[in-house]
Amino acid sequence: MSTVQPLPPTVEALLSDGTTAAIRPLRPADREAAYDLHAVRMSEKSRRQRFFAASRLAPKLAADRLCAPRPGFMALGAWVDRELVGAADYEIVRERPDAAEIALAVADRWQHHGVATLLLEHLLHAAREQGVRTIEADTLAGNRAVHQVFTDLGLRVHRHLDHGEIRVRVPLDEKDEHYRSAVEERGRSADVASLVPLLRPRSVAVVGASRRPGSVGRTVLEKIRQGGFRGELWAVNPHAERIADERTYPALSALPGTPDLAVLAVPSGAVANTAEECGQAGVRALVVLASGLSGADASQLLHACRRHSIRLVGPNCLGIAVTDDTVRLDAEFGAARPLPGSAGVAVQSGGVGIALLERLNWLGIGVSDFVSLGDKYDVSGNDLLQWWESDGRTDLALLHLESFGNPRAFSRTARRVTRRFPILTVDAGRSAAGRRGAAAHTAAAATPTVTRQALFRQAGITATHSIGELVEAAALLHAQPLPAARSAVAVISNAAGVGILAADACVDFGLVLPELPAHLALELTGVLPSGASAANPVDTGAAVGPAELRSCLDLLTRSRAVEAVLVCLVPTALTTDPEQDPLRALLDGPGRRRIPVAAVLLGQEVPVRYLDCADGARIPVYSDPQAAARALAHARDRARRLAEPPGAEPAVHDCDQQAAEDLAARFLDTHPDGGWLDPALTEDLLRCYGLPLTTSVWAPDEHGTVLAARSMRQLGHEDRIALKAYWPGQVHKSDAGAVYLGPGDDTSVRTAYQDFENRFGERLAGAVVQPLAAPGTELFAGIVQDQVFGPLIAFGMGGTTIDLLDDRTARLTPLTENDLHTMTTELRCAPVLFGYHGRAAADLMAVQDLLARLSRLADDLPQLAEADLNPIIATPDGLLCVDARVRLEPRHPFDPYLRRLRRSAAG
Ligand code: ADP
Ligand code: MG
Repeated sequence: MSTVQPLPPTVEALLSDGTTAAIRPLRPADREAAYDLHAVRMSEKSRRQRFFAASRLAPKLAADRLCAPRPGFMALGAWVDRELVGAADYEIVRERPDAAEIALAVADRWQHHGVATLLLEHLLHAAREQGVRTIEADTLAGNRAVHQVFTDLGLRVHRHLDHGEIRVRVPLDEKDEHYRSAVEERGRSADVASLVPLLRPRSVAVVGASRRPGSVGRTVLEKIRQGGFRGELWAVNPHAERIADERTYPALSALPGTPDLAVLAVPSGAVANTAEECGQAGVRALVVLASGLSGADASQLLHACRRHSIRLVGPNCLGIAVTDDTVRLDAEFGAARPLPGSAGVAVQSGGVGIALLERLNWLGIGVSDFVSLGDKYDVSGNDLLQWWESDGRTDLALLHLESFGNPRAFSRTARRVTRRFPILTVDAGRSAAGRRGAAAHTAAAATPTVTRQALFRQAGITATHSIGELVEAAALLHAQPLPAARSAVAVISNAAGVGILAADACVDFGLVLPELPAHLALELTGVLPSGASAANPVDTGAAVGPAELRSCLDLLTRSRAVEAVLVCLVPTALTTDPEQDPLRALLDGPGRRRIPVAAVLLGQEVPVRYLDCADGARIPVYSDPQAAARALAHARDRARRLAEPPGAEPAVHDCDQQAAEDLAARFLDTHPDGGWLDPALTEDLLRCYGLPLTTSVWAPDEHGTVLAARSMRQLGHEDRIALKAYWPGQVHKSDAGAVYLGPGDDTSVRTAYQDFENRFGERLAGAVVQPLAAPGTELFAGIVQDQVFGPLIAFGMGGTTIDLLDDRTARLTPLTENDLHTMTTELRCAPVLFGYHGRAAADLMAVQDLLARLSRLADDLPQLAEADLNPIIATPDGLLCVDARVRLEPRHPFDPYLRRLRRSAAG
């Protein structure tokens, strides 16, 4: 390695106790700090104990060595506030650029705080980016220590004998699942530790509490007091002695203790300085209510938080509420007071938060924690999911997210959490239309909506379209068991027309209404009034009483043929006697049954409410059969997700990553801003990953075109060819009349090429000649790199009418076996793939293999901004892609799982 590598930027991440540490490369100016670290902050004993080179050297030598940037060497320091608490470095082994030796030093006082693992995670990541593939160490004495550190990290250690000496080799594999989950687990527990002062504060200060009734600060102060906060509450205001009967203090420094949490109700211009004061006072959590911070104030605020290990909620938020009985903190200024319960609620928009809380209160779903995230400078939905995952209380998460800071990390957390309890979200899908309009080609048609949906789908999140739908689905998921994955629904109704509406709604949402087995129908007829119909929907007739209805329900819920029951009732004049109200069938229980039961009461004033049964169970009652069916469908989707085994990544063979990387590097050397590859390069790149491209011959002129067509005929291909005009920057060839499909004899080819020349003139750079592929089903597959979400694989029906059909699906990489399966089966046109109306079925294995290869390519080559394979012609014998486009962009790999806190206020 001959060049000094570009230095990684400063990042901040959490130590195991939740302290924020900054990780950055050491520079000559850090010599003094590095010397101190070894000479003052490490005892002789720990210097000796460390296995690495630094321990053998005097502190001065160590400092010199660490702070002199040079080729093949990198040293990272971990800083807490302004103190250097640890350093780690690697040095590439001479003549073997893929191997490096590493060294590590941690200050005594900071040992067992996760400094070493955090530093090494970042160091090894930087080393890998420089092409290092293994870490080596040879000191005998150090073997055990090396072993320990790498085992702690989650990496596998190999020992081998080299010239009579035992050497330790550690292959660096960041994608290794074992390593990834070890990193993830450290991240989770550090995150939870850092959130304790925020969500379990023992003392709270409201800073900027004002005397003015109705002001935000005063409202929050009053709500905290009225909410019965269990800890110490202090108000800070330099201009008042008492606010709302609360003694106030003129400044943070005048408080009788250090608050764990400070709620800042100061104007936006004062936020940054107040945050810095809080940091200096030792506050570890901030909730900032103000909006409209200037850019400078925003970065100063974030800087203060990072420097002082503060977790920050907001700015521009409504506040937080914690109902845990040991805390009872209601520090938000919404109208409703959150009831205690087990739903974790995090909202980006305060308005949505208010609406959601009101509906939850009304329904009677209590909240464990309510967090209004606001502009999400720091604390995000991901943090809260991790908290709720282990708080021992939360069993339902409701999220409203408008943006994602790190969607990959969020997705990984959510995948884990949704296996334990449901996560529901409102997917507003804004701005999709605008972006779709801008998409000039098919893969880019995977709009952010598609991307978000892919994220939710893969993470197992229940995505809804409105707050109403969210609450309706939550009502069912929270109180009733999940249906079986098939979800065979039985509908019972006391009015035939309503039963039919409900049945239609169920089918609309993809639920199944099976015919009831004959013996069950017979039994039902036995318990129902005469004239009832025991088909599905079951029509009980208007005269049905609670006892008959309950017998009917009992029979249905006991039958193996039924996996969910929807009871639809219309109040009738016959039921003026409350004892005869058919709802009693549900009320008197049993409410707890083997399968989910939901009810519809036509004409009910609220969209959903609970029926509290005698045995304590709760049955959701909807005003609208559509809403009930939709909630059942959400529950079915969740059941299906849980039934899927955690997906393994499919095996793909014969991918030449190195060749693809080299090709991309060469292209970007000559095209520093990136761009579309020409047909020949496109083919070279895609062939590195074994993608099934048709034979293409590049011809620069008419003569070359004729020769190419001849060679194709000689190769035994059929006589007809595809001839495609090419010029740099072209978008849709067929729209421009640049595709000729026809006979491949000399005269026809000449005529076709001359026609191109006449029409495209100077622009024409040559043509691509291909054999005409046998007809089949035209498919489309592609890669889109989203700046925030990372690579996405899109798949659907292809050809030139793809936009019309709009039948496509997408998943974030890496695709799992499950993804491959569901992608190829969930398209509306999927039956075409399986053979439809005499059409031959496509080779599904080949389709899945192709998608798996695209996924691998997208993950291996971050510079690949877009790839479009359209069409891929599918026949029973395999696939043939006849048109591909690829765009590269200069871009560095981004590892979404590397632990780091947010740097900027965006997203
Ligand atoms: P573009 O997508 O830029 O308009 P294509 O190369 O995809 O151009 O060609 C348009 C259509 O022509 C394809 O969707 C396909 O139906 C047909 N076509 C193109 N090349 C071939 C080929 N080699 N064999 C059979 N059909 C082809
Ligand atoms: Mg095409």
